[in-house]
Amino acid sequence: MANVKRIEAVREVTRKRVAAYCRVSTDKDAQLYSLENQMKAFQAKIILHPEMELVGIYADEDKSGTSMKGRVEFQRMLDDCRAGKVDYILTKSVSRFARNTVDTLTTVRELGELGIPVYFEKEKIDTANSLSEIVLAIMACFAQEESRSISENVKWGIRKRFEAGKEVKVPLYGFYHTEDELYLIQEDEAEIVREVFERYVHGEAPQDIMNDMIRRGVKPPAGDCWKRLQIDRMLKNEKYVGDSILQKTYVKDHLSHRQVRNRDGKLPKFHVEDAHNAIVDRHVFEQAQRITEMRRVQFGNSSYPYGEMLRCPHCGKTLIHGSLNNFYYNGEKIQNGGWGCYSGDGCGNYLIIQSILDEAVIAAYEEKYGVSKETVEFYWLDDTVESIEPGEDNVTIRWRDGETSVVEMEVSEERYNPTRYSDFYNDFLDRVRSGEKKNKYKHLMGLAAV
Ligand SMILES: [Zn+2]
Repeated sequence: MANVKRIEAVREVTRKRVAAYCRVSTDKDAQLYSLENQMKAFQAKIILHPEMELVGIYADEDKSGTSMKGRVEFQRMLDDCRAGKVDYILTKSVSRFARNTVDTLTTVRELGELGIPVYFEKEKIDTANSLSEIVLAIMACFAQEESRSISENVKWGIRKRFEAGKEVKVPLYGFYHTEDELYLIQEDEAEIVREVFERYVHGEAPQDIMNDMIRRGVKPPAGDCWKRLQIDRMLKNEKYVGDSILQKTYVKDHLSHRQVRNRDGKLPKFHVEDAHNAIVDRHVFEQAQRITEMRRVQFGNSSYPYGEMLRCPHCGKTLIHGSLNNFYYNGEKIQNGGWGCYSGDGCGNYLIIQSILDEAVIAAYEEKYGVSKETVEFYWLDDTVESIEPGEDNVTIRWRDGETSVVEMEVSEERYNPTRYSDFYNDFLDRVRSGEKKNKYKHLMGLAAV
């Protein structure tokens, strides 16, 4: 006889009376959603929770075009709920519970008033949680199927969460909330947000922007002193462009109501555009996101400002950026590194020094627009340039307006002819590969995979 431990011997347990609702398909996924399978699944689940008791399974046949009224079992379940026979409802997914947003929200709300939460298994939504999350998540689930903008619904949801009085208003620099409305613009803070975005997009480093804020005595979003993280978070916060990302967190375990971050695509996230007031222009915001992506350092290099704009004139592959730290050529130190055909399948026969490329691109821009530029920055490339094709001694720039400029590059034997320079660089790579040079150069392009 096994040694059986008695748990909760004294405390009287009031078991939750659980109803399961499912829709049984008659079409090709009939097998997957057969009544028998669904019942088994629900029973298996309940058995793990001794505090729960399955009091009924309600199943409707899924015919397209059926309205709420025609769903006999669904109505019977609601009647049982109203009669006080049910404490909790389990269901497979939002889309299998009711047919659309309005039906779902209406039912969930009525059940909520009766004190009966609904748990949607697939989406891990427990309606016992804060109303806003439920409303947003439910609408998000239907958004795809109903193929219409859900931003109106989101606004409705935000109003509802105030009515429910449950939601903690999350403060966010640049915005304030009132009893009736969320995300109203706090103009003095919004000015700072806009400035941070503008400067970042114009090529300034977050660290420099932050130092300037401190120097000027600008009040930080929180705490006594600006932190680098505050700038970084600001630059990627979609709330500043008026958007909302739904399901950033979800309830992992509906019994403990534990909220966890929705990482690694565990559940879909939904990006709602224009959900509320915007502080930053969408064009600026999107450029900021692309700059952040380009500045992300890989193998010691970032791909700012050209990104994937440059192609090898020999083989057509995308040129990648290398910092070329401590490289000298005829006694001249290489500035800003270079762009070479050294991606995984590149030919390795082209390497252009960035400062020389920059000179040519700036010269072309100045000639076309009559505006002088100190440095090449992504924002003006993005606004004006369709593509850049560097060659041996010139650069062809195709502008967004359809025109083309061909500019001479200042290259010569003394100034790094691209093909000759790649020979020089390849010799160097060989010496690193053979161990003649120390492997501190391993992040260099062409060696990253070694
Ligand atoms: Zn190539």
